[in-house]
Amino acid sequence: MSLRPRARIHLANIVDNWRTLQAEQVAGTTAAVVKADAYGHGIKDVVEALHDAGCDHFFVAHSFEGEQVRRALGSHPIIYVLNGPGPYEEPLYRTQALTPVINSDHQFQTLVTWLQTGGKLRNGYALHFDTGMNRLGLPVSDVTSIADAVIGMEPTLILSHLACAEDPENGMNAFQLKQFETVTEKFPAIATSLANSGGVWLGKDFHGALTRPGIALYGGGHPPDNRPLKPGMTLEAPILQVRQVAAGETVGYDATYRFEEKTWLATVALGYGDGFPRSASNKGFATIEGLRCPIVGRVSMDLITIDISSALHLARPGVYAQFIGPEMPLEEQATLAGTIGYELTTGLTPRVKRIYN
Ligand SMILES: *Cc1c(COP(=O)(O)O)cnc(C)c1O
Repeated sequence: MSLRPRARIHLANIVDNWRTLQAEQVAGTTAAVVKADAYGHGIKDVVEALHDAGCDHFFVAHSFEGEQVRRALGSHPIIYVLNGPGPYEEPLYRTQALTPVINSDHQFQTLVTWLQTGGKLRNGYALHFDTGMNRLGLPVSDVTSIADAVIGMEPTLILSHLACAEDPENGMNAFQLKQFETVTEKFPAIATSLANSGGVWLGKDFHGALTRPGIALYGGGHPPDNRPLKPGMTLEAPILQVRQVAAGETVGYDATYRFEEKTWLATVALGYGDGFPRSASNKGFATIEGLRCPIVGRVSMDLITIDISSALHLARPGVYAQFIGPEMPLEEQATLAGTIGYELTTGLTPRVKRIYN
């Protein structure tokens, strides 16, 4: 038996979550955001499962990720590259039929140059307008001149990105929607896309023709209570050793945790070398058959120690403790570690063996 930590990837759950998101939409299509190796779940297997279920629009950040999706799925799906094209990438975009997202005047010039020198975009291109995020995107104030500049080479999608979609009360949402409408008015015949996962839960005004959920596919983010999502993975690691410590003893590097009474501990094969955050030291939990076992002491590179008082009858070498999954929700573990679900799953290193059912 291998003593490696493992992430069991629940492809059927990811597909169910995609269907839940699609059911939120009165009209339009639900794409899948699969950048960063499908948020750490494995891009090839995730896109194959979603494509089999009927998803045919995918978003990645980089052209090489787009190539991975194309290789997995063949010629049919539309693959948008969010970070946009580099000047020398025309052959890649052409041969892989990738859809560039144009984020800046500089990228627009790149696109114009491609088209003027015989380049073809089999699956069109998208224009990204910045409605308040101030990260990527063309300025809303330039929309009139941009609408003129694209006559004869119209985009196939107009998109923008919400800064505060996780917080339905935040005034930024209505502000960005209004800004986006100012833009889309100028492109009345072109499909629109505004919502990430949080935006899907904000309701139909935010949906447009194409929604772009990422984290919700993997069971993360903060959906309304009546829209339960399923976990995209179970992260678990085997117990290597069980030991008892005496009152007054400490555990781990820097002796950050001191026991007030005799306590049973288990040492588990998971650490920050696997991408599990050190900031979960003395804060996070593992579970053994649903029983919570607090992380005690520092998370080290290869090992974590947990207090198994609640699961004494179960904990023994070879038993797996769960750190993310049905018993230990992703966002709860992330909050305890002072981070977000996105960082937790994308941060898992190749040392965590991915297992597909
Ligand atoms: C990453 C990303 C998404 C997906 O966001 P989630 O919050 O994971 O749903 C959508 N659109 C853009 C532009 C992104 O960068």
